[in-house]
Amino acid sequence: MKNIILLGATGSIGDSVLSVIEQNNQKLKLFGIALNSNITKIASILDNHDPSYIYIESEASCKDFKDSNIDKTSSQILHNKNELEALINHDDVDIIVSAISGFAGLETTLMAAKSGKVILLANKESVVVAGDILLPLAQDHNTTIIPIDSEHNAIFQCLGSKKKTADVSKVVITASGGPFLNKSLSELSFVSREEALNHPNWSMGSKITIDSATLVNKCLELIEAKYLFNLDENFFKLVVHPQSIVHSIVTYVDGSSICQMSNPDMRVPIAHALSIDSNRLPITFTEIDFSNLNLTFQNFPQDRIGIENIAREICNQGGLLGTVFNAANEVAVQNFLDNKITFNKIYDVIYRTFDAINVSNDLSIDSVYEIDKQTRMEAKKVLKFIT
Ligand code: NAD
Ligand code: MG
Repeated sequence: MKNIILLGATGSIGDSVLSVIEQNNQKLKLFGIALNSNITKIASILDNHDPSYIYIESEASCKDFKDSNIDKTSSQILHNKNELEALINHDDVDIIVSAISGFAGLETTLMAAKSGKVILLANKESVVVAGDILLPLAQDHNTTIIPIDSEHNAIFQCLGSKKKTADVSKVVITASGGPFLNKSLSELSFVSREEALNHPNWSMGSKITIDSATLVNKCLELIEAKYLFNLDENFFKLVVHPQSIVHSIVTYVDGSSICQMSNPDMRVPIAHALSIDSNRLPITFTEIDFSNLNLTFQNFPQDRIGIENIAREICNQGGLLGTVFNAANEVAVQNFLDNKITFNKIYDVIYRTFDAINVSNDLSIDSVYEIDKQTRMEAKKVLKFIT
């Protein structure tokens, strides 16, 4: 039996992980969960699982949960970060799923990186903001990181059991194109929050759904891939593939291209990652209808090349530039979700903030937090200027 800690249990990735566990409950057990505030969702998790530990970040929600009449007799309720860290390091824990969204996921991903256990990584932001710290930390502690972001899990699968990249000549990262596929930037000025949240292929949390609509998600994924596979940015090509069936492609020096395919369903990469040292885990899935399949690929839109170039610069320079990019984007996306800025202004906030912030070469966790804070303040100034 593998014991799992699910960080971000009440989110979209959380749902998919719970579904894979439920379908393989002879082999996988939900040992503990961590979440921000959705206690109604905890109740539904407890219908099918009995985690020994429940960590609730929000103090008010933690109190509400303790006071509620939800049956929690078999779980210990935690609110303190030290207790969460102890839980991550608990001897009985085998796998930690890092699926808290945004910068908020960094703290626990760093805890998990020091655990010497297996991390299933969904929280791409922690790699973007602190890749130069996180990856060496995991290596020093013999912690294995397995990506569950679908594209990165696809690359991981395409690299085969040896995980050698010396023979790789190119890696294509596919992008669905989101809800505004084939729309030029100038046509996106006044798209609504609801239109932007209406992703054609994937059902995800709101932050990543907006990132998919702006295509910033693909830029974050380029940086994520550079760190996870330790390849220069020029190995990676971003390609739009509207059907979201081919999740990425690895081309080798001898001309073979290997891809990983499935219908868009996050349970597929999650089931793969959960089975890494055993046979594949069976799940219910919708088969691809190969007799009636139309796969198309097109260039990453030229009018979004500015954002791709920022991501490539971050890959080349590393350090704290990714922290700046991520913080500017998070502030911009939140303001768009709050109906305070129009969609196209998200790019303006990122460009202007990125240009305004100078980063030092001092690389430490403290400097990541400091530059994140500074960037958020700068992004708010930019917002005042452009609205
Ligand atoms: P979501 O918004 O649906 O869920 C976020 C989860 O994080 C919730 O459980 C929430 O309670 C928890 N959380 C937020 N802040 C917290 C905090 N401070 N402390 C503790 N818990 C906190 O997000 P999601 O779509 O599931 O995405 C999660 C992560 O996975 C993101 O980093 C995203 O980029 C990545 N990812 C998601 C998908 C997808 O299909 N949804 C695909 C690839 C990668
Ligand atoms: Mg992805």
